Amino acid sequence: MDLNRVLRNYISGQWVEAENSGFLNVENPSTGEVLTQVPLSTASELNRAVSSAKTAFWEWSRMPVAQRCELLSNLTNKIYDNREEIARLISKEMGKSLPDARAEVKRVIENCQVANSMHSLIQGDILTDVSPGIDGEVIRTPIGVFGAITPFNFPAMVPFWFLPYALTTGNTFIVKPSERTPMTMQMIFEMIDSCGFPPGVVNLVNGDKQVAQAMLEHPDITGISFVGTSEVCRIVAETCSRTGKRFQAFGSAKNYLVIMPDAKMDEAVRNMLTSCLGCAGQRCMAASVIACVGDDVYKKIVADVVTTAKMVKVGNPLDPELTNEALVIGPVISARAKERIEHLIRVGIDEGAKLALDGRGIKVKGGEKGHFLGPTILVDAKPGMTVEKTEIFGPVIIMMKFNSLDEVIQAINNHRYGNGASIYTQNGYYARKFKLETKVGMIGINIGIPAPVAYLPFGGTKDSLYADIKTQGKDIINFFTERKIITERYWPEQ
Ligand code: NAD
Repeated sequence: MDLNRVLRNYISGQWVEAENSGFLNVENPSTGEVLTQVPLSTASELNRAVSSAKTAFWEWSRMPVAQRCELLSNLTNKIYDNREEIARLISKEMGKSLPDARAEVKRVIENCQVANSMHSLIQGDILTDVSPGIDGEVIRTPIGVFGAITPFNFPAMVPFWFLPYALTTGNTFIVKPSERTPMTMQMIFEMIDSCGFPPGVVNLVNGDKQVAQAMLEHPDITGISFVGTSEVCRIVAETCSRTGKRFQAFGSAKNYLVIMPDAKMDEAVRNMLTSCLGCAGQRCMAASVIACVGDDVYKKIVADVVTTAKMVKVGNPLDPELTNEALVIGPVISARAKERIEHLIRVGIDEGAKLALDGRGIKVKGGEKGHFLGPTILVDAKPGMTVEKTEIFGPVIIMMKFNSLDEVIQAINNHRYGNGASIYTQNGYYARKFKLETKVGMIGINIGIPAPVAYLPFGGTKDSLYADIKTQGKDIINFFTERKIITERYWPEQ
């Protein structure tokens, strides 16, 4: 496929050149090279996608679910066959390591596999004789046109938290990928184009926040799945409430890793660094705070984390010398993101944290125009400091000392975000207390990135999730279907 040309939209089963609505350059964050241009689609282009999705809905929603699954299965096979090509494109446009990109594509396939069994998942419930001669029944029906507005950091996986489920439940769908990493969806839609989906069932509209806002306002879109910063989640929640849409909005995070005195220290240090530094810290499940309980633990972990972090390689993830490295710090997404992270590091120092490792100014061979930052560690931080309150979204670790597990749980619970948190311990009492008392959505016990597999729900709490329904697994089916409850009886024939 030719990704060097300007990207296009996919509407009503056709590739469509964008109207002359303005374009943005899409950059390789490792080299600064312009890879392609993404169109900033207009409300009228969106209208055409919505209108084709609305027209396609009736027949698609009445197609037997097994047939819908068969079409998704065609797509799953194509993604599987092209998994390496997709992973390389993700690394190129987003900057994550190739092993991370491969893991992302694996999760795409896993979500398709779960949705491919929609015939079993979508079944309703029936209870006979709720009263003499009266039955109660719950059926799940598709609703209409759904849309997804997605972030830059998982250009393949995040759209596939929704797309496979929306389609197999019988809804039609529009994806608006991040304007910063739109090429991966372009490649996947090339595959969608040859899978046999009827025109209008699945559409791709490129653009930035303007077309995203048009989606939130559109009267014929029934529901929105949004993933991005919490600031935008709030806009999504407010607009969708006003326009009467279903919504789920997955937001920012500040994930703590808590290390107890009885933890397996060496294993924990390696695991924590993968969580904090992988994807250059640009995962919603990346940890960015290491909270040590007790003086001795703090001293040891600070020393070990600094020593080990110094050994992590920084570079272009597609440099042949780095493609098989399990942990590589690639670039952050843009020059602007890099400046923002460097600013936050300065604020951390001004507020009293100490710089134990400085990744600013790192030189990467061949990456002079890339947006690289080396691992950076701020120690002696305290709850309430800007670097503790803010999602930094870069390879920056904040280290803090606490006197007890209760104190750490209080800091986590006071935080505005509640995506994930992990504890390192061999002690069942601490682990149980942690999982019951912390106010976060996803918890790890000796697991630094507790991102659930596709057959379990995924989502945080507090400002990390504006919604009642999480994604993946059985939960997401409730988002994409109306549960109708039927109470019925038939009088006896005379
Ligand atoms: P972002 O909020 O800048 O953009 C996300 C999407 O929203 C993009 O498609 C963008 O075009 C659109 N958008 C931007 N401003 C908008 C507006 N005012 N109205 C409507 N749409 C708008 O986020 P990003 O920088 O691309 O992604 C990183 C963020 O996403 C981080 O905060 C990260 O934690 C979060 N994230 C969360 C999860 C999760 O599961 N909670 C998963 C992945 C990423």
